[in-house]
Amino acid sequence: MTTEKKKLAPRDQGAPDYKKNLHPLMVKNYGKWKYYDKIKPGVLKHVAESGDALYTVRAGSPRTLSVDKVRAICDIADKYCQGHLRFTSRANVEFLLAREQDIEPLIKEVRERLGFPIGGTGHSVTNIVHTQGWMHCNLPGTDAVGAVKALMDELYEEFTNERMPARVKISASCCSINCGGQADIAINLQHHHPPTINHGNMQICELPKVVAICPVAAIRPAKVEAKDSLEVVEEKCMYCGACHGQCPSMEIRDPNTDTLSIWVGGKSANTRSGPSFMKLAAWGLPNNPPRWPEVGAAVKKLLTVYKGSAKQYERIGEWIERIGWARFFELTGFEFTKYHIDTFKHARTTFNTSAQVR
Ligand code: SF4
Ligand code: SF4
Repeated sequence: MTTEKKKLAPRDQGAPDYKKNLHPLMVKNYGKWKYYDKIKPGVLKHVAESGDALYTVRAGSPRTLSVDKVRAICDIADKYCQGHLRFTSRANVEFLLAREQDIEPLIKEVRERLGFPIGGTGHSVTNIVHTQGWMHCNLPGTDAVGAVKALMDELYEEFTNERMPARVKISASCCSINCGGQADIAINLQHHHPPTINHGNMQICELPKVVAICPVAAIRPAKVEAKDSLEVVEEKCMYCGACHGQCPSMEIRDPNTDTLSIWVGGKSANTRSGPSFMKLAAWGLPNNPPRWPEVGAAVKKLLTVYKGSAKQYERIGEWIERIGWARFFELTGFEFTKYHIDTFKHARTTFNTSAQVR
C-alpha cells in the first residue's frame, strides 16, 4: 500500500475568498474609505483616507450572457480596470477604474461593443432581478428572464436617469414560491387551482417528503385504485406549488389559468424604516409572452404615480404607509378586491409550523 498522499481536486464549491480578487486600490485602502460621490448616473467615485480615488462605472447586463459576451466584458476590464470588475446582486456589471480619464472611453466601449446602458445608481430603477427560471429550475410557470427583458426595455430611461424619489428595486419570479426575494415592486406568477395528481407516476419518489412540504398540511396519503398515492384537501390548498417542487407528479402549472401579480413595498434595508414584506397590489394580469404588455403598463402606471406623489427618499412601501392603502388604490386605479386583505391572523394555527409529517 502506498503512503503517498492522494492529490485531491481543488474545492469548487462555496464562495471563493473575495480578498484575492479585490482591485489593488481596494486592498490598499481596505476599511479606510472616507466618502463617495455620484459623478453622474451610473458613475461613482469612492475616496479613501489616503486620498486615493476609485471610480465605478455601472452597466446593466441582461444576466443571461454568452461566452463571447463575457470575454468582451473581460477585455474591457483588462484594458481600463487592471482586469477588475464585479457583478452586483441585481446583475449589474461594475467596472472599477483607478484613472478618471478612462471613464468616458470605457463608457463608449461598453455602449458600442456590449450594447449595455450605463446607470442603475442612486434614485433610479436599478436592473431587475429575476429568479433562475427555466435554465436551472423545474418549476417555472412563466419566463421570468423574458418578462424582465421586456419590462427593462420599457423602463430603460428610468435606469439611465436618477429621477425617482428613491431607489426602486424590482424583482420577477416565475412561480409563487418566489425565490427572487424582496423588492419595492415584485412581479410573481400565481397559480389558481390545486395541483393535478398523476397517480400513475406517484411512486417514483418519497411520499412523506411531499406530505411534509405542504405549508398548510393539505396533502395526505390516500389509496387510489389499491395503490399508495396522495390526495389534496382542496379547501386548504393555497396553490403555492411547493409540492410540485418535491414531486413532478403533482403538476400545478396551467397555461390557461396561471396569471401574474404585482406586489409592492418590500424592502430588505434598515435605512429609515425597517425591512418590510411586500403586499398585493394587482393580480390576474395575463401571462402574456413575449412582451407581457399588461404587466409593463401596470408597473409603469405604478412608477408614474409614485414619482408624482412620494417625497424625496421615500421608498415605495414608506410612501404607501404615509398616504394609506385606500389612497394608493385610488391613485393607481388598481382594483381593490377581497384578496387584498389578509392579516395572517390564523397563520399560527393553520400553517404547518413543524417539520413532522402529519
Ligand atoms: S421562482 Fe420558482 S420557478 Fe422560478 S426559479 Fe424560483 S423556485 Fe424556480
Ligand atoms: S404544497 Fe401548496 S400547492 Fe401543494 S397542496 Fe400544499 S398548499 Fe397546495
